[in-house]
Amino acid sequence: MNHNRITVLGSFVADLAFRVDRLPARGETILGPSFVLGPGGKGSNQAVAAARSGGHVSFITKLGRDPFGDIARKLYADEGIDTGHVYEATVPTGAAAILIDAASGDNAIIVVPGACFTITTDEVDAARELIAGSSVLMAQLELPLEIVEHGLALARSLGVATILNPAPAAALPEHLYQLADYITPNESEAEALTGVAVVTLADAERAADVFLARGVKNAIITLGAQGAFVKNATMSAHVVALDAGAVVETTGAGDAFNGGLAVALTEGLPLEAAVRFGCATAAISVTRPGTAPSMPHRAEIDCLLA
Ligand code: ADP
Repeated sequence: MNHNRITVLGSFVADLAFRVDRLPARGETILGPSFVLGPGGKGSNQAVAAARSGGHVSFITKLGRDPFGDIARKLYADEGIDTGHVYEATVPTGAAAILIDAASGDNAIIVVPGACFTITTDEVDAARELIAGSSVLMAQLELPLEIVEHGLALARSLGVATILNPAPAAALPEHLYQLADYITPNESEAEALTGVAVVTLADAERAADVFLARGVKNAIITLGAQGAFVKNATMSAHVVALDAGAVVETTGAGDAFNGGLAVALTEGLPLEAAVRFGCATAAISVTRPGTAPSMPHRAEIDCLLA
């Protein structure tokens, strides 16, 4: 059993990204210049980020028996991600239709979570031994809340550290916070969850205090180009963003951050250094297009941090 294992409990959806000259109006059909099909879903992206940044990663999710599911299966094989608890559903794999206005950058998105949303608590329980042998369980909010809660509670009962990336933001029951050793919202998620509008570092600290008061052990608020703010009972710090070159696309920055953070914590880095490792992982990802394909490999992260 590998106690450096990172287990991610989360979503896979196929991202269908259409670039358009303008978003279509109701009832309208327009021709667009380009289309890209690629792997998406926050859980899947974070699993890839963690694997590339040096983690031994297992992913718990559910896929359909269809070509979108096969995209995920091939990705995990290529990235060395353990799929012993990737289940098969009778419903199709989830998909996201992403319309991107090429001129303004505005977008309109439809996500159908599909197969991953049908994962059951029994299927999470079937991964008990895997989770028990992991150093961290990481979850997001793209699976039913009941599943997320079940996974975090199981990890906690087994003495395994938990990371909750509360994305996309959703109202959470108070006891869910108590199951999170680490919470990692971005600015808008922090605001949605705490009511504190996060603009300045002082705002980030106020939002972090709300999470700590609710029972989270370590609050980490990612601040885009400002880096991240981290606070627990004994320390607080602002970790500045790293400059890895010209920013091309920030989609998936949060996923890169979480994957890197999980690896650094698993390797025993002190909290502030682990947050910096997460920032480095994300900083490289924003210099490249795409989400999963933009995740950096360990040597690149080590080079940026050297
Ligand atoms: P999300 O992608 O979830 O909205 P953020 O925008 O807060 O999350 O970004 C996550 C992390 O990515 C930040 O903490 C930061 O380390 C890194 N990051 C984001 N934007 C930039 C940028 N322009 N330059 C460098 N790092 C960035």
